[in-house]
This record gives sequence, C-alpha cells and structure tokens, in this order.
Amino acid sequence: MIRFQRVNKWFDSGLHVLRDIDLSVQPGERVVVCGPSGSGKSTLIRCINGLEPFQEGELTVSGIRLGDGAKALAAVRRQVGMVFQQFNLFPHLTVLENLTLAPTWVGGLSKVEAAERAMAQLERVRIAEQAVKYPLQLSGGQQQRVAIARALCLQPRVMLFDEPTSALDPEMVKEVLDVIGELAAQGMTLLCVTHEMAFARAMADRVLFMDEGQILEDAPPAEFFDRPASARAADFLSRVI
Ligand code: ATP
Ligand code: MG
Repeated sequence: MIRFQRVNKWFDSGLHVLRDIDLSVQPGERVVVCGPSGSGKSTLIRCINGLEPFQEGELTVSGIRLGDGAKALAAVRRQVGMVFQQFNLFPHLTVLENLTLAPTWVGGLSKVEAAERAMAQLERVRIAEQAVKYPLQLSGGQQQRVAIARALCLQPRVMLFDEPTSALDPEMVKEVLDVIGELAAQGMTLLCVTHEMAFARAMADRVLFMDEGQILEDAPPAEFFDRPASARAADFLSRVI
C-alpha cells in the first residue's frame, strides 16, 4: 500500500531530515509514529501525500510513484486523507459546506450526492446534529471530528494523522481518539503521529520510533513499550509515559 525505499530528504537549509527511510505499510495496517520533537515525523507522513518533496529514493502509494508528475500526485492524493493538529476548517462555511466543497469541486459529485455522503460521514464521527453550525461554534474536539469526516468524504484508502489531539483540551482528547480507533477497527489503513501512548498500545499494529531523521525502531506495541531496543527509545519513553 505504502512503500518507502531508501528515501532521503534535505531541506534547503541543508538539514538532512529523512535518512534512508525504508518502510512498507500493508493495507489495513495501523501504524503509530512517535519520537522526539524535530525527529522528522511530520515530514515523513507529509511525503506520503506529496506535501513534501524528497531528493532520493522511491515512494509509492498503491503502486503509484510520487515524484512522477502532477497526474501521479493527483492520483495519490485521491487515496490519502490527512488530518492535522490544527483543524484547518473554513470558518465562513458551515460544517456541511466544509464537507461538500472538495467532493463537488474535485470529486465531481452533485450537491445532493455530496451532502448525502457528508451526512453519512458526520454520523460516523457522531456529530451529524452539528451539520449547519459554523466551525467556531463547535468545541475543539468536535471541530477535529469534522476535519476527520471531511477527509473521509473523499473516500481515502489511507488516513494520515499528524498529532490530531495535541491542540485539544484534555477532556476532548478521548472523543477524537475513539473516532480514530473506530476507523482502525473498521480496517482503514492508518498512520498516526501521536504521543498518546495508551492509544498506541491499544490500537497500533506497529509503532515506529524516529530519531534524527531515521526510523530507529519498528515493532509491535507490546515489544516497543516493554522492551525498546535502543537507549534513545527507552529514554524517550521514560519521558512521555
Ligand atoms: P514535532 O514533534 O515538533 O512536530 P517532527 O518530528 O514532526 O517534530 P518535523 O516537523 O518533521 O519534525 O521537522 C524535522 C526537522 O526539520 C526539524 O528540525 C524542523 O525544524 C525542520 N523543518 C521542518 N520543516 C522545515 C522547512 N520547511 N524548512 C527547513 N527545516 C524544516
Ligand atoms: Mg510534527
């Protein structure tokens, strides 16, 4: 489904932000990415939907090569949904309008079809009753669930989450993690950058630990949390758990 082969990336500053990344994610796999600030977690997952270019190596999503031009990029983006720490909803549009915008403009759906699909996804994240409100009338947790529903409206085969709960007040973290956990249980292929280690332990098939642009560990959660192989990971865990 997703395959990195010796991917290397440098920023213009000269920073070698991704170093020899080799990673395969199978359909239906749930992968949590953790590691210290600045280790390259966001950069890694942003490469998967072409938000970050890279200089060396090969990255394919469903066999489509990133870096093969605009058509390939568009084809990859149709398969990959992304949710960020900041919800990035359009404040001047209602929840429903936020969800129908891309499916009508990019996906070619009629307004009625897009609205039906949007309501189904809002129900999936248990927020259908807020459809005609504006984002700023909702709590942070509700807004993030809307952002998840919006990504799902494009019917992605993979969902990427970059610290989806770190901008939320603590009491709202669970409702968002529960929704992501439900997607995982439904078989969605999922990569999630998070420091919510209890969530990672419960939901992930694999935990990746990144440090200084490298994937230092790639292990099932029980193994990673109970017997981290590197001193760096052990040190990281002692600080976040
Ligand atoms: P955090 O946990 O703080 O979100 P991260 O692991 O997601 O960190 P990245 O955002 O991938 O880390 O950044 C990796 C490194 O690249 C950091 O040192 C960051 O300062 C640097 N970086 C990120 N974006 C750029 C950019 N556009 N230009 C130059 N350097 C960048
Ligand atoms: Mg980040």
